[in-house]
Amino acid sequence: MPSPFAQTRFITSAVAPAGFPAEDRPEIAFAGRSNVGKSSAINALAGRKRLAFPSKTPGRTQTINFFELGDRARLVDLPGYGYAAVPEAIRAKWDELVGGYIAERQCLAAVVVLMDVRRPLARYDMQLFEWLRPTPARLLVLLSKADKLSRSEGVATLAKVNSTLRAKAHNATGLLFSAPKRQGVEEARELLESWLLEGKAAGP
Ligand code: GDP
Repeated sequence: MPSPFAQTRFITSAVAPAGFPAEDRPEIAFAGRSNVGKSSAINALAGRKRLAFPSKTPGRTQTINFFELGDRARLVDLPGYGYAAVPEAIRAKWDELVGGYIAERQCLAAVVVLMDVRRPLARYDMQLFEWLRPTPARLLVLLSKADKLSRSEGVATLAKVNSTLRAKAHNATGLLFSAPKRQGVEEARELLESWLLEGKAAGP
């Protein structure tokens, strides 16, 4: 069977829950600070040079972008966060949109949080983890730009992130990730696919 990630296609952008697709299949949501490498990771998982992403200029209207993963699941690109220059009103809107999506979305099967391996666990990352704590969704943490650190520095950071998240009662899986070096790409894809299958087996 071909990977659902090989069949990634843009469906729609939404600025509010009214624009979200029906909750008829499991969703894997991607979140992370602006510029962390989220689009690059999604492209790497999809095996594409560049999927069609709507404009992501900071300060513009923030959207949640939905992609189909074949006809079995969806990939959800949550708006990036953490830009210091973003006005308070836009930050509040982000809280409402992303916090609301995570809290309300029943079909949320897994969340992939990207953090730059050189500066993980920043303030807004921790806020996101707080929102994720009550959800039953699986959690995959990708430490992006792993090519910017030595192997041993990367491994040490991964251990620290894992222990911090475990202390906060998160059952998270962490991976070192590099889009240009394709490090962690296959592992992430296999893990997410297994979680989708698992969810399906447990479903009605
Ligand atoms: P997004 O804003 O989170 O979607 O980030 P992008 O995917 O657009 O990446 C932001 C910048 O980081 C771009 O210049 C990418 O080329 C670069 N980048 C993304 N992932 C990696 C990575 O794994 N390693 C390195 N060295 N650069 C990366």
